[in-house]
Amino acid sequence: MANTNVVPKYTQLFINNEFVDAVSGKKFPTVNPATGKVIAEIAEGDKADVDLAVAAAKKAFHRNSEWRKLSPTQRSELMLKLCSLMERDKLILASLETQDNGKPLSNSIFAVAAAIDALKYYAGWTDKFTGNTIPAEPYVAQTRKEPIGVVGQIIPWNYPINMLAWKWAPALCVGCTIVMKPAEQTPLTALHAAALAKEAGFPAGVINVITGYGPTAGAAISEHHDIQKVAFTGSGEIGRIIMQAAAKSNLKRVTLELGGKSPLVIFEDVDVDQAVSIAHNAVFPNAGQTCCAGTRTYVHEKIYDEFVKKSVALAKARKLGNPFDATVEQGPQIDEEMMNKVLGYVDIGVKQGANLACGGKRFGNEGYFIEPTIFTEVTENMRIAQEEIFGPVMSVLKFSSLEEVIDRANDVEYGLAAGVLTNDINKATKFANI
Ligand code: NAD
Repeated sequence: MANTNVVPKYTQLFINNEFVDAVSGKKFPTVNPATGKVIAEIAEGDKADVDLAVAAAKKAFHRNSEWRKLSPTQRSELMLKLCSLMERDKLILASLETQDNGKPLSNSIFAVAAAIDALKYYAGWTDKFTGNTIPAEPYVAQTRKEPIGVVGQIIPWNYPINMLAWKWAPALCVGCTIVMKPAEQTPLTALHAAALAKEAGFPAGVINVITGYGPTAGAAISEHHDIQKVAFTGSGEIGRIIMQAAAKSNLKRVTLELGGKSPLVIFEDVDVDQAVSIAHNAVFPNAGQTCCAGTRTYVHEKIYDEFVKKSVALAKARKLGNPFDATVEQGPQIDEEMMNKVLGYVDIGVKQGANLACGGKRFGNEGYFIEPTIFTEVTENMRIAQEEIFGPVMSVLKFSSLEEVIDRANDVEYGLAAGVLTNDINKATKFANI
């Protein structure tokens, strides 16, 4: 069992394989959302620190650098060594993740294992990138895949160690160098992983981690002229800012993974108990803080009443509390601001005429917990059916036909994910293809 009191060993910025204070000397607290108490004071990086990190990453990418001279197999070996060290420290990483993010410890252990798997997957790709030869006689035309250079990576707080692996792994795989900014709410596992990267033998400057806030450290990354690409996961609102900053600076490439308001459509031919369980697990894990959560639950009118009754019973039975307690299923929201934002959406749902079937309140008076919440009688004109709440809130909508539900499911600004439950393969295929 993981030690619930692992004290974070690394609280400074990681630049050029060293842990250092911010140039400004500033620090910010990282808070345990289950208790509201400060876990540690973390170095608060900003533009000056990003400049140092980018300089280190640029040097590490120089054509004569140790990193650039490694063969694809050697890069793979380094990545696999990092995986072994993460495996060795998996309970430390899981404990830090649960303290910082609030998700149940078993979820954090699973998350660390999944992060290791992602790194292993990309470690297998280092020698498999090929270009094309193109018929263009009398010329010889060929393409080569090259690492782009210094990559900026800005990640959110909901799956911190996974986000890190999903960003580090492809960049390291192809030979880029990295300046990453973890979310200010969850810096701990990124700093521990950085220490492991150094122990694994990654040359200085290949991986840099700048902890700090978005408008300062994050903006310095997206505006930087020596960063060739920025990979961002987070909200659409900040995604727009990143894209503008990239365009206004050096036209760096941008990838954005943004928010969602995904439908889960449940037809009348399903086993209702099974559908209730799937729908529950599409919304409530990670306290509803999942980009592709299926939060708009469309239920066929023939099974609607039974579905609602059973879903409410299941939501009421969900156990909230200390995320280090092995019987707990749901931890807190990430911080007070998000808790209040979610509670604000509950008010909006009630005011706009949805039926609050269960939950809707803060749970306990320590930490930032919210009861699993279900709204029924929801319609598309309500804000709770259109906007990403990012909390444990299911909105149930009634439908009567396939054609109708496809139009309604698509009638939203987001387009991240969708699910369908039916035993009719023709219906499922048609739904998925439209
Ligand atoms: P956020 O957009 O507020 O913050 C994400 C990151 O951007 C943080 O590191 C933050 O510090 C940084 N940031 C903030 N302002 C910035 C600025 N001006 N310039 C540069 N960086 C800045 O998002 P969040 O609240 O941390 O995460 C929740 C959002 O992320 C939700 O919308 C969720 O759906 C989305 N998300 C998407 C995916 C996906 O794969 N599509 C995965 C997880 C989360």
